[in-house]
Amino acid sequence: MRQSKLFTKTRKEVPADEVSKNAELLTRGGFIHKEMAGVYSFLPLGLRVLKKIENIVREEMNAIGGQEISMTALQDSELWKKTDRWSDEKVDVWFKTKLKNDTELGLGCTHEEPVTNIMKNFINSYRDLPSYIYQFQTKFRNELRAKAGILRGREFLMKDMYSFCKDEIEHNEFYEKSKVAYMNVYKRVGLGHITYVVFASGGMFSKYSHEFQTITSVGEDLIYLDENTGIAVNKEVLNDEVLASLGIKRENLVEHKAIEVGNIFTYGKRYSEPLNLNFNNEKGETLPVFMGAYGIGISRLMGTIVEVLSDDKGIIWPEEVAPFKVHLLMLGEDEEVKKRADEVYEILQKNKVEVLFDDRTGMSAGEKFADADLLGMPYRVVVSGRSMKENGVEVKKRNEEKGQVVSVDELLKLF
Ligand code: ATP
Ligand code: MG
Repeated sequence: MRQSKLFTKTRKEVPADEVSKNAELLTRGGFIHKEMAGVYSFLPLGLRVLKKIENIVREEMNAIGGQEISMTALQDSELWKKTDRWSDEKVDVWFKTKLKNDTELGLGCTHEEPVTNIMKNFINSYRDLPSYIYQFQTKFRNELRAKAGILRGREFLMKDMYSFCKDEIEHNEFYEKSKVAYMNVYKRVGLGHITYVVFASGGMFSKYSHEFQTITSVGEDLIYLDENTGIAVNKEVLNDEVLASLGIKRENLVEHKAIEVGNIFTYGKRYSEPLNLNFNNEKGETLPVFMGAYGIGISRLMGTIVEVLSDDKGIIWPEEVAPFKVHLLMLGEDEEVKKRADEVYEILQKNKVEVLFDDRTGMSAGEKFADADLLGMPYRVVVSGRSMKENGVEVKKRNEEKGQVVSVDELLKLF
């Protein structure tokens, strides 16, 4: 992609109403556009990141047997009344709307009810189990506070998976597998070293659940981590009974602020019973399907990466999620430099290296470097009069101080 053609531009100014680092850097870089509090559009660079995260999650969900679908945003209130989740007292984040004939509808904030309803058409016997269904979908939640940029949206992208098993044993097996798959996701997006599986409350569902929490000072949650074992507990369930069951001691725990980047729940019959999702077992008995749910905030994960992997100059994207692997900078405008930069751009593209080519004219080297630091591609490659004198290009990783001049052949070996 030629940067001269990219319709977005970087900005020096921080929007006055944005207080979070993720919103500040993503807006200045032209990754996102704020429509209103908690509601953001994704622009070309931002969408590339979001899609890369989505694809990593897709690969990991497929690897544990997930089947992808796409459910509707519009929700039938009648279905949610059956599980007692239509009233605003029970679910306090609903956005509700109406048809012209006054029929009430909701905008999906989660999808247990519709997915259970769909599966009623396909699950009859133990032979139809287990089944793992997931989607990437825009969720709508009327959150009270939405000041943390894309960490807490009123409209945001979530991956939600639902498991359908014959019993608790089969469920637990998948539940443990999902933990490993989730940790693979966090590792691949560059957060593995500071993300923990955390024992948490079940909220409106079961007694306990597990959250995936990324440690950072801007997190809204408080977790207690035993650094020797890596076992962690959310503040909301920190009590002697829980500590004993996990085999950890209060005096060994360190308090951390953290962002919840995912969670997994055991539901059992919570939805299958009221919605009549049953199956016949080997003995011919009719039983409710044993369910679980597994969420990852895709857009929140993107915001978390920016919060954690950035410095005072801008973002430092990990390779697997960066919009482009290489930011190629043309410095200087004499014909030799232009020609060489064009050639390097073509060679990189031929070799399937994703490259953003800063071919813009009328800009100083300092301005281009500042933009490259703000946008945060993993590798910065410079073609300039100086690099040409040394018969090469200058390559520098985003998190390195100094680059080095290498030949184009050597450059390609890096990718
Ligand atoms: P929180 O406690 O942060 O409100 P939650 O418990 O309501 O999260 P779930 O309903 O289980 O979250 O949603 C699954 C995942 O979706 C969460 O782990 C989180 O990563 C993400 N998520 C939840 N709410 C939002 C939001 N408003 N904006 C962005 N991501 C969100
Ligand atoms: Mg919530």
